[in-house]
Amino acid sequence: MLDVNGLQKIYGGGEREVEAVRDLTFRLEEGELSCLVGPSGCGKTTLLKCVAGLLRPTAGSVSLAGHAISGPPRDMAVVFQEYGRSLFSWLTVRGNVELPLKEKKLGKGRRDSLVNEALQAVGLADSAESYPWQLSGGMQQRVAIARAIAYEPRVLLMDEPFAAVDAQTRADLEDLIRGLWKRFAMTVLFITHDIDEAVYLGQRVLVLSSSPTVVQDDIAVDLPDERDQLSTRSDQRFTALRSLVYTEIQNAKNGPAAPSPAAP
Ligand code: ADP
Ligand code: MG
Repeated sequence: MLDVNGLQKIYGGGEREVEAVRDLTFRLEEGELSCLVGPSGCGKTTLLKCVAGLLRPTAGSVSLAGHAISGPPRDMAVVFQEYGRSLFSWLTVRGNVELPLKEKKLGKGRRDSLVNEALQAVGLADSAESYPWQLSGGMQQRVAIARAIAYEPRVLLMDEPFAAVDAQTRADLEDLIRGLWKRFAMTVLFITHDIDEAVYLGQRVLVLSSSPTVVQDDIAVDLPDERDQLSTRSDQRFTALRSLVYTEIQNAKNGPAAPSPAAP
């Protein structure tokens, strides 16, 4: 479905060159919910922008259903970390969610039903006529999520979307994402620096190394599909997976070339 092959991104040139990612290769299957974790500054947002067609890679390629990505694909939606800045303050909640559907040239009737369904799904049906600045951070983030799902993307990319909300809201939003993923059968790539969140949400966790960035590990999350905050998080398997991801991130921080202390 989504193929990332030998992706490298170098910013700037000459003396000011920054190699954000060195060599990333992975594949997301259709309908998969994958989480990507890695140390801060390792190039997660850079990767997401390359996948979303917003940045041109220095080397390597990204393709969606066999087609190379050269600009923002029509069937992809992105939820950024700074949701406040991604909403238009002069448009109502309804106006914000509807805007990309107008750009998609959908008729009024279809737009209305998609907007209403999406707002219903994120629990904001009663706030449709409010403005973003009248809402809490968690509600604004739900508007950004509603806008993404109303668009009916085949692929949904999310970049640390819950980093700025309180713990309870975050737990609710995590469950919302799993619910929406099941209901709308999207392929989801969820970027986070939170190990517990990655294991709780994902069917799979990709761990990025620190710079020079490569895919350090690809861990299958063999937890039951039905998850809930209390029982899943107290499951022994959850604890074991979280330790595994934690260890991988520690190894990743030491860099891919670091000698293993256990080596003979
Ligand atoms: P992450 O999202 O994992 O925290 P980023 O992708 O934002 O990492 O950044 C990876 C590296 O690339 C960092 O060293 C960052 O300073 C650098 N970087 C990001 N964007 C730019 C840019 N536009 N110009 C130059 N360097 C950049
Ligand atoms: Mg980032």
